[in-house]
Amino acid sequence: MAKIKAIRGMNDILPDQTPVWQYLEAQVKAVLRGYGYSEVRMPMVEQTDLFKRSIGEVTDIVEKEMYTFEDRNGDSLTLRPEGTASCVRACEEHGLIFNQSQRLWYMGPMFRHERPQKGRYRQFHQIGVETFGMQGPDIDAELIIMTARLWRQLGLEQSVTLHLNTLGSAEARARFKADLVAYLSTRRDQLDEDSQRRLETNPLRILDSKEARTQELLNDAPHFHDYLDDESRQHFERLCALLDRAGIKYQINARLVRGLDYYCKTVFEWVTDQLGAQGTVCAGGRYDGLVEQLGGRATPAVGFAMGVERLILLLETLDAVPADVRQQVDVYAMAMGDEAFARMLVLVEQLRDETGLRVQLHCGGGSFKSQMKKADKSGADYALILGDDELQRGVVALKPLRSGEEQVLVEMTSLVDKMSGLSAAE
Ligand code: ATP
Ligand code: MG
Repeated sequence: MAKIKAIRGMNDILPDQTPVWQYLEAQVKAVLRGYGYSEVRMPMVEQTDLFKRSIGEVTDIVEKEMYTFEDRNGDSLTLRPEGTASCVRACEEHGLIFNQSQRLWYMGPMFRHERPQKGRYRQFHQIGVETFGMQGPDIDAELIIMTARLWRQLGLEQSVTLHLNTLGSAEARARFKADLVAYLSTRRDQLDEDSQRRLETNPLRILDSKEARTQELLNDAPHFHDYLDDESRQHFERLCALLDRAGIKYQINARLVRGLDYYCKTVFEWVTDQLGAQGTVCAGGRYDGLVEQLGGRATPAVGFAMGVERLILLLETLDAVPADVRQQVDVYAMAMGDEAFARMLVLVEQLRDETGLRVQLHCGGGSFKSQMKKADKSGADYALILGDDELQRGVVALKPLRSGEEQVLVEMTSLVDKMSGLSAAE
């Protein structure tokens, strides 16, 4: 019978990969903890209308990327394509937004029906951060400074650049949009096919078209920053000043518009040139209108999401994963014979109790040679060996596997002491 395979674009993350994921997640969590952010966990499925109303009907996501289905009650449900809408829904539903400020994060899978390629999958993972109730550029700056710290922590700071823009107020955007459409409509035949379609549906998206010809055409188009309202201009200038003070470098990129409808004022992306076309590893911005759009009271909000797969690809491309991350055990314990095994089973429990070492006990028997092979493959620094001979003498053989040092015999009664010394010395 033909074997059933995973769905295209939905990846298994296998045991040789999960240590890198855990490393990245732990680093992110530590940074978030350092800034006082709290975790929130939302369901992976929501009513389809939530995404239609927030992301926008004429965006790529809603037009062609959502996994939407009818459940048994006939309700239209969608696998979440992103986290912001769900997060706003959850916070509104539980009264976490009105009259208070929030700093939140979440992580988990998102689903988009895109063409799978390197750095682009149908189930992918985001770590998202959302803040509510703070209207000034202070919090925008904090979010950016926090991500910059993460890049430093991960050794990625030389490989990512910050692109920054402001989308102004809804009114400013509308005035700009009208003039942009007027300008481009007279040059319609020079636009690429996608951009022609967007001229009717979502003209601002034309600004981040990847077509060189379209980009050229835009050089003489109306310039958004000429339309900016005073409040947004001041907000943006203050943000830039704060980033300057904090020593954060950025490029102002007037063509950065982001793919979702709900953004206003600040938008930013951290981009790398190491991953080909899928170079954005973290993206976000301000969405002051979204809470109200979803039925709540007007609430300022700003957030971002990181693409976990892309960050992992980047870590691996740069060889920036610390060597010990993939090491899962410190000690590999093996025993030859039933009685020796029973003794070892108790010894390794003691070791785990008292030293904090990660100890893998060989199970399944086999010759000394085959057990040694497993010990080597485990990545452990030490093997502990107990055979009949050692058992009778009340000792265990401790064999360094990496340092080239000689094997020594240790009294069983002093094994914990001896091994504690080893783990402390590391
Ligand atoms: P792109 O322009 O690459 O399609 P996007 O603007 O659609 O990105 P967002 O919705 O802003 O992406 O999501 C935030 C981040 O999530 C992206 O910057 C990226 O790192 C990651 N991401 C988005 N879509 C995918 C995907 N299909 N596969 C893997 N990562 C993704
Ligand atoms: Mg996309």
